[in-house]
Amino acid sequence: MGHANQHHLVPLDGHFHKNEAIDWRRQQNAHAEAKCGGVRGEAEFDIADAATCFEYYGGLATKVSGLVNPVPDNALSLSLKEPVGVAGQIIPWNYPLLMAAWKLAPALAAGCSCVLKPAEQTPLTALKLARWLGECGVPPGVVNVVTGLGETAGARIVEHPHVDKIAFTGSAAVGKLIMKSAADTLKRVTLELGGKSPNIFFADADFEAAIDGALFGVFINQGEVCSAGSRVLVERSIYPKFVEAMTEKARSIKLGPPLDRATKMGPLVSREQYDRVCKYQEIGKSEAKVAIGGGQPSSFGRGYYVEPTIFYDVDNSARIAREEIFGPVAAVIPFDDEADALKIANDTPFGLAAAVWSRDIYRALRMVKAIRAGIVWVNHMQPTYVEAPWGGYKQSGFGRELGVHGIDEYLETKQVYINLNEQPIGWY
Ligand code: NAD
Repeated sequence: MGHANQHHLVPLDGHFHKNEAIDWRRQQNAHAEAKCGGVRGEAEFDIADAATCFEYYGGLATKVSGLVNPVPDNALSLSLKEPVGVAGQIIPWNYPLLMAAWKLAPALAAGCSCVLKPAEQTPLTALKLARWLGECGVPPGVVNVVTGLGETAGARIVEHPHVDKIAFTGSAAVGKLIMKSAADTLKRVTLELGGKSPNIFFADADFEAAIDGALFGVFINQGEVCSAGSRVLVERSIYPKFVEAMTEKARSIKLGPPLDRATKMGPLVSREQYDRVCKYQEIGKSEAKVAIGGGQPSSFGRGYYVEPTIFYDVDNSARIAREEIFGPVAAVIPFDDEADALKIANDTPFGLAAAVWSRDIYRALRMVKAIRAGIVWVNHMQPTYVEAPWGGYKQSGFGRELGVHGIDEYLETKQVYINLNEQPIGWY
């Protein structure tokens, strides 16, 4: 396990453009990805996005450049960019192929070797991806996939003295453990953690688009999304109408088997996750009112299905408003005015994402500036592009993936000083 050096950058560019290897297999592999906890319709988009990620970083690989620093005339000072070394990459079970692409593509483009550990629940597509990369010409030993449990396989990667950097995506609880453990070898660490993101609706927003956006924001991928808009903040003047319309539309969400194209919400990924979400449904019933859901659908004999659940009249101090549930559970919270909305939005330990819905550009942009989150959408929630940075404020982590920022996290800067003065230093 050595690290790839910068000589690999240019050849890798050529290989990366063969991302068709992923795209071609889109149809067959949507099946495998859906089996890894998603639903088929979404899995096809995710596979296309994974291919785009390799294409993007394939292009960026040849644009890594240093600087000439402005020092006095008797010297030349350069900043060189070098790969950080061996990157240990640990990913969660939601969007397993896409998460692997977000980790591997920038690291390879920077010239790093990678040891990737997929989540124990969803290793299939990461293993396939490693094989496709080999077929695309990535040399043996550059991409290594290690399967296993977090406490054993994951922890060993973090402790290992030959691993130079850890890029982790997962829960805040495990992120904290990783940071502590990485301190022993002073590894570079980037953390993409969870959230409790506010999706904020002002009364002047387009009503139909708003209802759609509220549901999409929290229920896409069964709510197993780090940036889920799980706190739905609604201006009081439209609040009753909004809860009613959201509830009515939620009735049309089609639950079903993940491989069925018509399915919009599949089962949760595991028994553990199912138990967790059911527990929060019960907690919610003691903290707020149920608009819809709150249990398990009776129509499925097998599978970890839960009903899309909307709680309303939620206070922001409630556990269902503070803790990441990571399932299809929305907490609808009323607010009085812009100041109140902002106070509630920022009153959370997390800061991954937020969305603001309003036709008033002044208010929308004031909110954008004041919200403490790494991603803020206006009049939409969830669109994500490989060209634009992704990452959190506060306990949602630090470091950025995607865009030009993503490759920087895998690069070191070496300063080179070249003396142009032929005289001795003359100090002694
Ligand atoms: P998790 O933290 O339980 O596990 C994530 C990964 O860490 C898994 O591969 C697991 O095996 C490993 N792991 C567990 N314990 C470890 C340890 N002690 N040392 C090293 N590795 C260890 O998270 P999860 O349940 O798989 O995923 C859901 C979480 O991921 C949610 O909190 C979600 O918000 C977050 N997430 C964040 C983003 C983002 O971009 N910010 C994206 C997707 C998911």
